[in-house]
Amino acid sequence: PAVLATHGPGRIIAMCNQKGGVGKTTTTINLGATLAEYGRKVLLVDFDPQGAASVGLGVNPHDLDRTVYNLLMERGADIREVIVPTAVENLDVLPANIDLSAAEVQLVGEVARESVLARVLRPVQDEYDVILVDCQPSLGLLTVNALTAAHGVLIPLECEFFALRGVALLVETIEKVRDRLNPRLEVDGILATMFDSRTLHSREVVARVHEAFGDKLLHTVIGRTVKFPDASVAAEPITVYAPSHPGATAYRQLARELVARGDAA
Ligand code: ADP
Ligand code: MG
Repeated sequence: PAVLATHGPGRIIAMCNQKGGVGKTTTTINLGATLAEYGRKVLLVDFDPQGAASVGLGVNPHDLDRTVYNLLMERGADIREVIVPTAVENLDVLPANIDLSAAEVQLVGEVARESVLARVLRPVQDEYDVILVDCQPSLGLLTVNALTAAHGVLIPLECEFFALRGVALLVETIEKVRDRLNPRLEVDGILATMFDSRTLHSREVVARVHEAFGDKLLHTVIGRTVKFPDASVAAEPITVYAPSHPGATAYRQLARELVARGDAA
């Protein structure tokens, strides 16, 4: 893909799976970094109170007075004052920390409680080409807010035996949000993660996902490698930590695949 001279309209992609440890945060960071490498202007929205996406990009959210939480809860708070640039050119982060865990309960009484994130992002949406929302592992109100703001959903699935358990419920939630709140929402793709080429098992899981979801299964497969946890300890995307590692190559391929499918500018 060519480097873009102008940016926007921003396409919002929610990274969702209510199961933890499937590669949502790793994919958000590394897809964000590779799209940025290709000249896209990318905003990464940390939407998990654990703040792992912020930390993984070298932003310590526990020191911050204001995070995405304040934007959700305080009318008039300015998103531009909360967005933080990262060490990666073209990649900004809207950080989260443990404060966000209160939002799930506090938003329940709000008017249009499902569209608060959409409202928060609107002022900067067209300054970016892609906005990636790293969801927490739940299908609660915060995730529904991400789905309501989004154009597309990416579902990382780890290549493990029970990976498909729970996906039916996730798809049902996506369909409910599409019917009731956000008719434009589509599943952009399912990404197989933590693939181990040495095991028959990993290949069987990918075959089953393909049977169930057809061409929603992305061609790009992310292999299992300790370089990913190593890179997150270093608080860097793998493209910075180990630029020529196959893990970095895989996320570059994912970026190109999404651009080619029209899911990223
Ligand atoms: P989630 O956000 O879905 O909870 P993470 O992206 O945080 O999942 O990944 C969970 C753990 O697995 C982290 O320690 C991460 O470094 C590691 N991990 C993620 N992707 C891979 C991979 N492809 N190979 C090996 N470890 C991975
Ligand atoms: Mg995560």
